[in-house]
Amino acid sequence: MAVRRFSHFINGADAPPAGGRYLASEDPATGQPWAEIAQGDAADAGAAIQSAHAAFAERGWGALPGAERAAMLTTLADLLEARWEELVEAEIRDNGKRIVEVRAQFSGLHSWFRPFAKAAATLEDQTMSPTLPGVTCTSRKVPFGVVVAITPWNSPLMIAAWKLAPALAAGNTVVVKPSELASASTILFARIAAEVLPPGVLNVVTGFGHEVGEALVRHPLARKVSFTGSEIGGSKVAGAAASGPLPVTLELGGKSPQVVFADADLTATLNGIAAGIFASNGQSCVAGSRLIVQRAVHEEVVSALVATANCLQPGDPMDPATQIAPLANAPHRDKVMGMIETAKAEGATCVAGGTRMLQTERPDACYVAPTIFTGVTPDMTLWQREVFGPVLAVTAFDTEEEAATLANASDYGLAAGVWTNDPAKGQRMADRIEAGTVYINHYRSVDPAVPIGGMKKSGYGRELGPDALADYQQTKAIWVGTAPMPNPFPPADRRPT
Ligand code: NAD
Repeated sequence: MAVRRFSHFINGADAPPAGGRYLASEDPATGQPWAEIAQGDAADAGAAIQSAHAAFAERGWGALPGAERAAMLTTLADLLEARWEELVEAEIRDNGKRIVEVRAQFSGLHSWFRPFAKAAATLEDQTMSPTLPGVTCTSRKVPFGVVVAITPWNSPLMIAAWKLAPALAAGNTVVVKPSELASASTILFARIAAEVLPPGVLNVVTGFGHEVGEALVRHPLARKVSFTGSEIGGSKVAGAAASGPLPVTLELGGKSPQVVFADADLTATLNGIAAGIFASNGQSCVAGSRLIVQRAVHEEVVSALVATANCLQPGDPMDPATQIAPLANAPHRDKVMGMIETAKAEGATCVAGGTRMLQTERPDACYVAPTIFTGVTPDMTLWQREVFGPVLAVTAFDTEEEAATLANASDYGLAAGVWTNDPAKGQRMADRIEAGTVYINHYRSVDPAVPIGGMKKSGYGRELGPDALADYQQTKAIWVGTAPMPNPFPPADRRPT
């Protein structure tokens, strides 16, 4: 297959990198290059930010009535609903996600835009009630200007949509910096969006985070940063943004617990656990990677999960029958295998997987078997560190108290699952678990109406939900004097100096 070339997308058109450099993007199902993407530098970052700034400040995207932005975003949603299939293959070639999952994500891409378009159409000033006499005051939500949106490789386009929909609806213009490991779908998306949005409203620059990403964050015309990625990347971005200083939203990693009580409906529970750790190969921010099971059902739950793990069929991610796709790239595969070896060395018991798959047929591909470790304790690396792969760490508990303590024994706090037929117990656990999202008898769903984000080292700020628009707005208070302004230096006080 011929290697496809993707340049940046700046000011409504493809833009070759200033330095003329491109990076290879390998298909993780074969290990072979399938595309090359622009390797951006500070000059490209500057061009993209200038383009976004001009669209905001000179060509007036930020000053448009909300209803006009809403109409364009609705048309964009319509286009996405009609044409999402054009984007599917690029995403699969880039990050190896199974076609059934990519199709499910992309057929719903339009739905992230519609509620925010509606919100843009109904933006209104709020009347304040100052205690001072002789004034009235309104509070107006205004955009920041140029937003830098930095995205990871696991679900690049869906995560970009979570940022773009509220940011554009609020009146900002955006420069997206997708992961250097999966940029193509975002470029293709930008080309579709350019059929509706004015030039410069949405720009995409690609390349390494420390090169072009940091140059975007440090650019003097950048006004707000929204970052999704690893804890390490997030810390660096927050550090660079602090020199602005720029406000930052950080959506970071997780080590999310799933707590199973003996009274749970085990069929539904097993589905939820498998969805939590084996769907997307565990390359999901909310992957339920720590399984905390009440001792009475520990054996039953583990043996059912082992049976499932051992039956899942690896194959080409483009084939709808495939159940195990490759991990997203070779360095990540090697990192996951390294963490499996560490777990073995630290004394956890590997009861399923623990190996690469399809090594004979596809020696350069990135398949790793669904893996389960039992006897994992909080002092082990596998308990503490995010694998971002299909590796489940299991431990047993006896009491509710112990379950809550184990669930919270992590630096992360992104999501958690609780499985019980006792609603009061479910709510008690939801109260006690430190996580931005707690699912009870359910797992891994996201919805435009529901906020998502982390506690502790999983980040701060929230995407989606009722406050997402406000995350991309700043507040301007407008005072109007309704009585003459009093003289601060009444004549009686005046003396020659
Ligand atoms: P990463 O931190 O390596 O990279 C994410 C993005 O940041 C990439 O575009 C990268 O180029 C850029 N970047 C890295 N260093 C940078 C710097 N110094 N300045 C500017 N940009 C920089 O993360 P990843 O490996 O691509 O993604 C996996 C991580 O993302 C996992 O930890 C996962 O949990 C997390 N994630 C979180 C969520 C969420 O909603 N909380 C969703 C998806 C993924």
